[in-house]
Amino acid sequence: MLSITGLGVTYGGLHALTGVTLEVGAGEFVTLVGPNGAGKTTLLKAISGTVAASEGRVAYQGRDVARLRASERAALGIAHVPEGRRVFPTLTVRENLELGSYRRAARRRRTESLATVLELFPILRERERQLAGSLSGGEQQMLALGRGLMAQPELLLLDEPSQGLGPRIVEQIFETIDRIRRERRLTILLVEQRVVEALELCDRGYVLETGRVVLDGGREGSTFTSSASRIREASRCGRACWRASHRPCRDCSARSSGGWPIASGAR
Ligand code: ATP
Repeated sequence: MLSITGLGVTYGGLHALTGVTLEVGAGEFVTLVGPNGAGKTTLLKAISGTVAASEGRVAYQGRDVARLRASERAALGIAHVPEGRRVFPTLTVRENLELGSYRRAARRRRTESLATVLELFPILRERERQLAGSLSGGEQQMLALGRGLMAQPELLLLDEPSQGLGPRIVEQIFETIDRIRRERRLTILLVEQRVVEALELCDRGYVLETGRVVLDGGREGSTFTSSASRIREASRCGRACWRASHRPCRDCSARSSGGWPIASGAR
């Protein structure tokens, strides 16, 4: 469904992504992990068209979409739920959701989509007439996800849906993502810092560091899994060393005997 080859993105002179090659098959759930500043958000933006690629190919359903505008990619069925929610705070929950279905194919199915989203997130039904800016962080994330689903996408790009949320809400959000995936057979590319939960849900994953893919693999029995489990150890560490410096602190090193997979460059 999605095939990225040799993708590069620069901001001014800074290379945010270099030679990124990645595949997401139809119906697959692929997760993308990596430290802060690795380029995860940039990659999702380059797929949805909110940043321009400087080189490479983004093929979606066999067609190179790298030069298409974001609205044209959305019309083809790519929905991007951005980091930090980005709901329209002065519009109601209902209005935010309806904005999600501006794509022609989705507009026709707006009533049906709205019913599905409100069934997935009953709290949004209770808050339908409330301004989105007055919702809690978790509710805003549900709204952002719901708005993405209103577009009736075929490929859903999710950027850190757990960001800034407490464990119970995160669990609920992940359960819903899993349910959406199973019931709708959607293709999902998820960016997450919560490696444990993301790996439980996904089929395969990629690790990105300083703009390059340094590892990929399935979630069981591969180098990717063992690396990811070390990332997991580090992300459990109260010092969050992996996020802060891409290096293990002494506690993490003690727990992980096999060395640090990412900083040492696994490829
Ligand atoms: P995080 O996990 O912290 O969200 P990330 O992996 O998503 O990080 P990006 O946000 O894609 O990383 O950023 C990749 C690099 O590009 C970083 O060095 C960042 O500072 C830089 N960058 C991102 N957006 C811009 C921009 N609009 N202008 C200039 N540099 C940018």
